[in-house]
Amino acid sequence: MSLLKAYFALLFLLCVNVFAKKDVNGDFYVGRNQMIYRTEELSQEKFLAYSPLSNGTHLREAVKNILVPRVVGSAGHTMVRDYIASDLRDLNWNVEIDKFHETVPILGKLHFHNIIARLNPDAERYLVLACHYDSKYFEEFEFLGATDSAVPCAMLLNMAHVLQEALEPFRNSKLSLMFIFFDGEEAFKEWGPNDSIYGARHLAKRWEDDGTINRLDMLVLLDLIGAADPTFYNFFPNTEAWYSRLISLEERLSNADMLDHYISNGISRQYPNRYFQPNTMRSSFVEDDHIPFLKRNVPILHLITLPFPSVWHTKDDNESIIDYLATENIARILRLFIMEYLLSSQHSE
Ligand SMILES: [Zn+2]
Repeated sequence: MSLLKAYFALLFLLCVNVFAKKDVNGDFYVGRNQMIYRTEELSQEKFLAYSPLSNGTHLREAVKNILVPRVVGSAGHTMVRDYIASDLRDLNWNVEIDKFHETVPILGKLHFHNIIARLNPDAERYLVLACHYDSKYFEEFEFLGATDSAVPCAMLLNMAHVLQEALEPFRNSKLSLMFIFFDGEEAFKEWGPNDSIYGARHLAKRWEDDGTINRLDMLVLLDLIGAADPTFYNFFPNTEAWYSRLISLEERLSNADMLDHYISNGISRQYPNRYFQPNTMRSSFVEDDHIPFLKRNVPILHLITLPFPSVWHTKDDNESIIDYLATENIARILRLFIMEYLLSSQHSE
């Protein structure tokens, strides 16, 4: 993420549109390739089955394994890549490493590796969750990037563990789940079109050329998550129906008392929800790994904390700022969202 872009995004926050919260359950809408989708609320039975699931031990272990300096080309980078790949292979996911090289400012020629994990490698369509696993190079200090994006990567791995059984039917389904761990999101010198999102640019182009891009239902990008009290906003009208499901699931979990320390006297928000805000914001200022896919018409949900965590791109973005209660709460909402998406979109044609 670039600071200038973020600054403009914050300015824009002042003039957001609040979309009238509506019950979108059962709404039909036209998605990618003119496919008709239907958002459908999880049945109470499934809601009660999935809501209590969690594995905090694994989440912490995953964070510990990823939270090392992992600048592209470093030993830490290789270690983290191997860890992510093996954690998912152990759960019987299909893991592909998408390798390429490029010459970058300061560090010269580097080898990049996107990690692509598919629950069913033969699926026709995918719901994609993504984050970046590289950490930013700083000459002056060692940067760990807890929120940027060690915690989002750990959340994806944790999701695969926690939902292992629930996801079993999607090992053979036409619609399945894919995770992408992008490499080279960070700029080496200064954020710009040629120095940032190296992995996402490479992969979107490759998949446009071979047609794979048409098989992506939606790309859900996680970034800058892990600190206390994140707030998220909707950016794209064409995914508003799905963003609304995040709002509804937060409410449903809160009403069922399934979110830890959710009600806090210290927090006062303009809206009833603590995390997912019912606003639509113009996104052109918030650049991230979704951009090359957005340009190729892939529907996007960009789940990035706004405003950015105060520790953004400082040495303080380390383990001490991780709020595991908030992170688990967000993870719980996302897990239900994934199940809802997969179950309700399974038969969309
Ligand atoms: Zn960053």
